[in-house]
Amino acid sequence: IGGHPKPQAAKIKPAGVKRIISVGSGKGGVGKSTVSANLAVALARAGKRVGLLDADIYGPSQPRMMGISGKPQASADNQLLPPEAYGVKVMSIGLMLEEGQAVVWRGPMLMGALQQFLTEVAWGDLDVLIVDLPPGTGDVLLTLAQKSELAGAIMVSTPQDVALLDARKGIDMLNRLEVPLIGLIENMSVYVCPKCGHEEHVFGQGGVEAEAKKIGAPLLAQLPIDLETRLGGDEGRPIAAGPGVMSEAYQRLAGRLIE
Ligand code: ADP
Repeated sequence: IGGHPKPQAAKIKPAGVKRIISVGSGKGGVGKSTVSANLAVALARAGKRVGLLDADIYGPSQPRMMGISGKPQASADNQLLPPEAYGVKVMSIGLMLEEGQAVVWRGPMLMGALQQFLTEVAWGDLDVLIVDLPPGTGDVLLTLAQKSELAGAIMVSTPQDVALLDARKGIDMLNRLEVPLIGLIENMSVYVCPKCGHEEHVFGQGGVEAEAKKIGAPLLAQLPIDLETRLGGDEGRPIAAGPGVMSEAYQRLAGRLIE
């Protein structure tokens, strides 16, 4: 994007939604959707009214991660009713598709769908709407930042150089769009062998922490590589909904956002 995009006239924010927070990453596969789902569940457990909008429209994974399926129903006034799971209201383009069906829309249609998700979904009263963005610095973030009132953004990265490099571009785009960066989350920071306790820094060490220091942004969490997190995501049981150390880590993360 060249120059400094000026905010558009009217900003879309669902009437009852207090804060919209986006969760992005520079690169795919770093755990952005996993973090979005678990953060949403942890915030709900902390007593907040939470929505989760899956705006990763080319690769929607929230239906699977949150364990929901079936086409959303429409309300009497033709709003889409977001299904609820683990205390979180969820909307995803994945709910409109058959399993295995690809989205073959062009960009403008997708942006239209995104706007509809903001204006034509019966979100009701929410303390926070978490938006799971597609990876990279694309149309969706631009649309969201220009057309809606984004309270702030969270960036997820692994410590790996390429992921960090891409995350940096994402942060640059946030700056240009004047979206406040709430903080960084380092995911897959370490693998601790469950048998011997040996720590292996599979994707490198300390990269996200150093980046956060450099740009003066909070490091909100460092989350290890964890088998239960992956299984929970695949089986539609977010780890944050249960007991255990990972769930506690997500509770702490939620606490930091509520502060
Ligand atoms: P993204 O949204 O960035 O593309 P996903 O959240 O879909 O990434 O995660 C990619 C894969 O990595 C998924 O299979 C997910 O279950 C797994 N994953 C994410 N975070 C972790 C973690 N901390 N430990 C283990 N597996 C993880």
